Amino acid sequence: EASNTSPARHRKLGEGTYAVVYLGHLRLEPQSLVAIKKIKVNAEYRDGLSMDAIREVKYLQELSHPNVIALHDVFSSKDRNLNLVLEYLPLGDLEMLIKDENIQYGLADIKAWMGMLVRGVWFCHENFVIHRDIKPNNLLIASDGEVKLADFGLARSFADPYLNMTHQVITRWYRPPELLFGARQYSAVVDVWSIGMVFAELLLRVPFVAGNSDMDQIAKISEAFGTPTEENWPGVTSLPNYVPPGDRVNPLQGREFFLRQFPTAGPVGGDLLMSMTTLDPRKRNSTRKILEHSWWRSDPKPTPKEALPKKS
Ligand code: ADP
Repeated sequence: EASNTSPARHRKLGEGTYAVVYLGHLRLEPQSLVAIKKIKVNAEYRDGLSMDAIREVKYLQELSHPNVIALHDVFSSKDRNLNLVLEYLPLGDLEMLIKDENIQYGLADIKAWMGMLVRGVWFCHENFVIHRDIKPNNLLIASDGEVKLADFGLARSFADPYLNMTHQVITRWYRPPELLFGARQYSAVVDVWSIGMVFAELLLRVPFVAGNSDMDQIAKISEAFGTPTEENWPGVTSLPNYVPPGDRVNPLQGREFFLRQFPTAGPVGGDLLMSMTTLDPRKRNSTRKILEHSWWRSDPKPTPKEALPKKS
């Protein structure tokens, strides 16, 4: 057995679509709590998980950054399920905060959360890891208020696709247009689009573009930001799942739109959001560029992490 975690403590922390999560602790350090995520492994993998997948997990174990959840260990249990030993993050996630009407937060808090999110994603990109599923529910909160990027699509790539189909929620609202159009070659800026959607949702406290199908998502993106065309996005019409817009072509939105739609962000914040939600991925800003934006240095200053609003 590869793990150094004790099976003695088995309080269930929660259950997701692909996994059950238990509380545990490291055998040699009983005071340090960990979350053990037991993934319901696809039957196809049971006789041996794909080498690519294992390599990816091993690689994630080496990534160490304050805004990326720590993966302490990976082991397979007697039932041949895959177990991830993760940093224990007791304060829920950003989705809970956004939805909790008893919690009030302002632009300084949003700036702090966004800063932690962008730094975590920047670090992943520097290490050639693209997350591909950034959403408020995957941004977990540590006891000191630090936001940590979690759920690297691992659960999904190993999980049994026939399990729990009914409560499977496909995260579409944060997906960039190039993935919705079926692009097979894509770059790290897919994550930047998702970061933009999280930013918009933190400001509005409701998801900004919430399509009820992939087609509807594309339609809503076009309504909100402008219709993708060969002019604003050379090559878009050749993508595998591209659908012509019909007779309604909306022009690309400019600065005034972002100011009107997101008044609380201010002109500098609106400009930052605009640079994250550029339709053409080649023109979208990288996380490095985003960290250089003047919004981070403009007022208000980000709230210190210990002073951020918490779930009750
Ligand atoms: P989902 O992404 O659908 O919430 P997960 O399988 O990732 O599902 O997690 C299920 C639940 O387990 C989460 O909602 C959360 O309550 C809990 N959980 C997951 N990871 C951790 C962690 N690292 N620390 C504490 N609790 C966790």
